[in-house]
Amino acid sequence: MGSEALVPVFPISMCIVTFIGLILLNIDNFLRQPFWTLVTLPFVWLMTMKLVCLLIKKMGWTMPGGFIFLSSGDEVISWSLKTDTISDTDPLFNPLQLEDCEICFLSLPFLVSGKQYKSCCGKVLCSGCMYAVKKNGGKLCPFCRTSSTLSREKKVDLLKKRVDVNDAAAIYVQGCHHDSGEYGFQQDCAKALSLWHRAGKLGCSGAYTNIGNAYFKGELGVERNMRKAKQYYELAAMECPSARHNLGLCEELVGNVNRAVKYFTIAAGCGHGDSLKRIRNIYLFGYATKVDYEKALRAYQKYLIEIRSDQRDQAAAFSDDYRYY
Ligand SMILES: [Zn+2]
Ligand SMILES: [Zn+2]
Repeated sequence: MGSEALVPVFPISMCIVTFIGLILLNIDNFLRQPFWTLVTLPFVWLMTMKLVCLLIKKMGWTMPGGFIFLSSGDEVISWSLKTDTISDTDPLFNPLQLEDCEICFLSLPFLVSGKQYKSCCGKVLCSGCMYAVKKNGGKLCPFCRTSSTLSREKKVDLLKKRVDVNDAAAIYVQGCHHDSGEYGFQQDCAKALSLWHRAGKLGCSGAYTNIGNAYFKGELGVERNMRKAKQYYELAAMECPSARHNLGLCEELVGNVNRAVKYFTIAAGCGHGDSLKRIRNIYLFGYATKVDYEKALRAYQKYLIEIRSDQRDQAAAFSDDYRYY
């Protein structure tokens, strides 16, 4: 989900209010030694919140929506005080199938820089195969041999032709261009959403994830609506690691940590590094087990082995534009 910086407004405001409350309680210290008070108070605050969480958990008290806790940066963890149950037969917990590169047949990396959509042939190729042609001075698409030195206008023409023949990935890409207002496309959120709806219906999971993100954050002219966000993430969940990660965030926000960990584990196994960090944080604060974290870590490491190749390593060493993990 873009930068993955999804910060719910209520928890952050709650954290700020409690922090200001602590400063007010220590106003004398703050006026005398503002620097040291500001340095030490966050630790006091973190420990107090942690103890409160542990006490609430120990006593088995419940709070609607779980208890939200700030960890580091803009990472937010919600603490489950419910015992959410998981059904192993839930199709949303089925493993994801990663798409393969059409040339080397290795799984395509999750990272955007590790792959590229080619509007000439409508194929998604990995960074390794792209770089292999480039390093030998080749200026052709590695798949269909179309010149890759075409003007931007010509590339846009090719993209539009793919859109006209209902290529889901091309429709998705054009939606992204309307979202960002790049490549000569006018910035138009409504048009972007409408293209993503069309691409989603044709089987593009990334398009449904983007629509889910718009509802999750209340952007692109739509109202924030968690129910709809989840609905779109679920439509994308079978093929898109980001959709699984974001479903994890949705569950975390309402305190269903068991479900959240399950989603994060699946996404981590498809290269979603933020999912792995999320599980580590939940584990560090005692709401997931060491086994949960180790399982996710192993899945992530297995993914790295699966997608690694000498060709991709060479590409990544050449430029960050080809980074694939
Ligand atoms: Zn490849
Ligand atoms: Zn091509």
